Amino acid sequence: MSSAAAPAAPLHIRDAVRRLPAYVPGARPESGRTAKLSSNELPFPPQAEVLAALTEAASEANRYPEMTGDSLVAAVAQRHGVSAERVVVGNGSVCLIQHVLDTVCDEGDDVVMPWRSFEAYPICAAVAGARAIEVPVTADGRHDVPAMIDAVTPRTRVVIACTPNNPTGPALREAELVALLDGVPERVLVLVDEAYLDFVTDGAVGDGLALLNRYPNLVVSRTFSKAHALAGMRVGYLVAAPAIVSAIRSVATPFGVSLPAQAAAIAACRPEALAVTARRAGVVAAERDRVVAALREQGWTVPDAQGNFYWLGAGGATARLAEHFRVAGVLVRPFVGEGVRISVGTHEENDRVLTAAAAWGDVR
Ligand SMILES: *Cc1c(COP(=O)(O)O)cnc(C)c1O
Repeated sequence: MSSAAAPAAPLHIRDAVRRLPAYVPGARPESGRTAKLSSNELPFPPQAEVLAALTEAASEANRYPEMTGDSLVAAVAQRHGVSAERVVVGNGSVCLIQHVLDTVCDEGDDVVMPWRSFEAYPICAAVAGARAIEVPVTADGRHDVPAMIDAVTPRTRVVIACTPNNPTGPALREAELVALLDGVPERVLVLVDEAYLDFVTDGAVGDGLALLNRYPNLVVSRTFSKAHALAGMRVGYLVAAPAIVSAIRSVATPFGVSLPAQAAAIAACRPEALAVTARRAGVVAAERDRVVAALREQGWTVPDAQGNFYWLGAGGATARLAEHFRVAGVLVRPFVGEGVRISVGTHEENDRVLTAAAAWGDVR
């Protein structure tokens, strides 16, 4: 008998997977001096009580966590005043968005989404075997709601809204959200991604959770990654009709949210922690408004910024602008040919952005 292995048959990789665009993560700093403003993280560490809860949970890491995170589901449900059967938690909200599309899309179905928006959306659609129908945002970075409604066909399974929109900044006003929900047939899911809602200061902006009772096809996505300062823990959740939630649970990875992540998120839902989170989000929003006003003063055109980031359109100069910031000690997120997204950092980091932005005129 020969010990030589038979030549391996070429491994089959689905076409949809072969063609996936790469998800580009925000750059990581080379030195401690560099301001990492490339991933929309909170510039504050996890809260002390949250850290204590996750550290304590880590000592039980030989045990499995709760399979569907029932204690965390209960904490989230209580926080938002909804029943637990309307909440599903997952290993980051991106993972849940994938589960939504995997749950409802058949091969070749359409997912309508704004573009430019969160780069995970077209990837999730492709993995689900669906087609991403990208509807351009307006010149000022807003969702084009009428065009999104027009893009819906009998093949459409899901319409995604991102509010505030990553990376351009504006959020959907309540009237826009209602117009979108009214304009889409009830058999189509409307997935409203509110990863940055905590930073919104415009009172006209809508809140998907407040509309859930009116629209059974609405799915609201939230995360602990941004305002709650837990990006590294990977935990997010969806709120939706019970039938949608139970279908998503059936496709989700068992024990998908780790034990420390569940403990940290539960601690982050306590009223005292929520109060600190709200205060910190207010600090970030105030810094955002300060920086955006100063940039406009310098002559930059900046779309309305309702998240913890802002957008500088730079077209063909984008790569050079990102390099200009890097040399000045600031890592930003370039979208080549379009512009850069910059996260709100500490006061000092934001000043560094302003100084570098002011000097750009000299090197343009
Ligand atoms: C950061 C971000 C998320 C959060 O994803 P997690 O997987 O929960 O960390 C979701 N949606 C958008 C638009 C984001 O920018």
